[in-house]
Amino acid sequence: MRGAVLYSPGDVRFEERATPTIIAPTDAIIRISATCVCGSDLWPYRGIQPINQPTPMGHEYCGIVEEIGSAVTTIKPGQFVIGSFFASDNTCPHCRGGYQSSCQHRELVGTAQAPILRVPLADGTLVATQEVPNDDLIPSLLTASDVLGTGWFAAAAANVKPGTTVVVVGDGAVGLLGVLSAAQMGAERIIAMSRHASRQKLAREFGATNIVNERVEEGVERIKDLTSGIGADSVLECVGTQESMTQAIRCTRPGGSVGYVGVPHGVELDGEKLFYSHVHLHGGPAPVRRFLPTLIDLVWKRKINPGKVFDLTLPLDQVAEAYRAMDERRAIKALLLP
Ligand SMILES: [Zn+2]
Repeated sequence: MRGAVLYSPGDVRFEERATPTIIAPTDAIIRISATCVCGSDLWPYRGIQPINQPTPMGHEYCGIVEEIGSAVTTIKPGQFVIGSFFASDNTCPHCRGGYQSSCQHRELVGTAQAPILRVPLADGTLVATQEVPNDDLIPSLLTASDVLGTGWFAAAAANVKPGTTVVVVGDGAVGLLGVLSAAQMGAERIIAMSRHASRQKLAREFGATNIVNERVEEGVERIKDLTSGIGADSVLECVGTQESMTQAIRCTRPGGSVGYVGVPHGVELDGEKLFYSHVHLHGGPAPVRRFLPTLIDLVWKRKINPGKVFDLTLPLDQVAEAYRAMDERRAIKALLLP
């Protein structure tokens, strides 16, 4: 088969690779129905995260089970399944506590921009839909694999509740689906920070009530203006830079919460400022597996349409163009179809 391999910054190739096979008895092999490029794929693509060797790419996936290992009991060939970027047993203490992305036996699923994928710990990792979905549901189901699951975790970690005021820092796909998640959780006001017209429009479709164009000092001032000088109850940090994290903490009211899901690059916190902020911080790699049944159900019943974040669809063999379009911010998120 052919799959995506990142060689060096800006150099993604679609090239011949070994077709995955069952290695452990707990594995499943799935035929990918759709995959996509993640904002976090852009860190190595831009050279901000070093690459030491040609690296297969992709960690968002859904598809049809082709084969299972001898120890797999709940997942069956022919089922349509969705899993997270961390395979997890879903039985260890961390999984039972709802933090499957810290599973004691977690394994990164990192070769999904390809037609065939091996998923370890299939019983714990994969969630099957009740039947094979219509094609039009597939983009939305795919989002549950990471981008929606991560936006949802940001909102949950920021303690979004009915009636609260929420700020979302970051207008990438995760931030936009953070808006959708906060709306689903009953937030009364959702302030999206964005300077891009197309992203502002989608944020409003997903439930944003206000848009703030300004950033840094002016951005904080605007949020304070909109919240009677108090700050937001919940802030979703969906970028991972020093600027976005500082922005998030400074927009939060004393006693409020920041849910941070942007993979941090060069973020350092000042202990004294944090101490006097009175802000709760919770985040990390989203335990997407915890939310999969809920998110799949919402999509299946067509209560949400998170697949709208895909504003570019390409055949998988044009994966290099998908990276370019997202890097240049011509696309919010690129869907790839094998
Ligand atoms: Zn576990």
